[in-house]
Amino acid sequence: MRSRLDWSKARVGAEPRPCVLCGKPALMRSPDRDVPCHKTCAEQWLDQHKQ
Ligand SMILES: [Zn+2]
Repeated sequence: MRSRLDWSKARVGAEPRPCVLCGKPALMRSPDRDVPCHKTCAEQWLDQHKQ
């Protein structure tokens, strides 16, 4: 089952920063760690790392 994150509270940065997972420019900031990250990348990461 695909992971779905609730990023309704995620902040959007003023300018793109490299995504911590894929390295491409991302405007979104991860809500729990406040790092630049795409929601789709975070969901993929969860899928690969959940037990
Ligand atoms: Zn990404």
